[in-house]
Amino acid sequence: MTENKASSRNGLLIDYEFCTGCHSCEVACMKELKLPPEQYGIRVLEDGPRKTPKGKWDWTYLPFPTSLCDLCEDRVKAGKKPSCVQHCQAAIMTYGPVEELSKKLAEKPKMVLFTPV
Ligand code: SF4
Ligand code: SF4
Repeated sequence: MTENKASSRNGLLIDYEFCTGCHSCEVACMKELKLPPEQYGIRVLEDGPRKTPKGKWDWTYLPFPTSLCDLCEDRVKAGKKPSCVQHCQAAIMTYGPVEELSKKLAEKPKMVLFTPV
């Protein structure tokens, strides 16, 4: 990969600590990609609720784009944000250059950076 290609590569930064599990991103993505039932461009997984040995509760939602995600190529070309970013009720998703997003990873825990194949 050339330096130019690397610096222009985009991705999604997901701050899952504040994901509410509302599934709006799944619906927005399905509509954007015009997917049939049971097909998803993004899934929201749920872990818990479960009491840890230390007596704390773990209950986590983790949204992750699937292999069908094209980072909303058409919307982005038209100057819009990706549909999941636009419709996330908790505003926890950020779209942008991977280089910039990866710097934000150091700012707080419980974030993931998605980059398409
Ligand atoms: S960026 Fe677009 S295609 Fe990818 S998960 Fe979000 S809404 Fe779906
Ligand atoms: S729309 Fe946002 S808050 Fe709702 S499930 Fe998706 S990522 Fe989580």
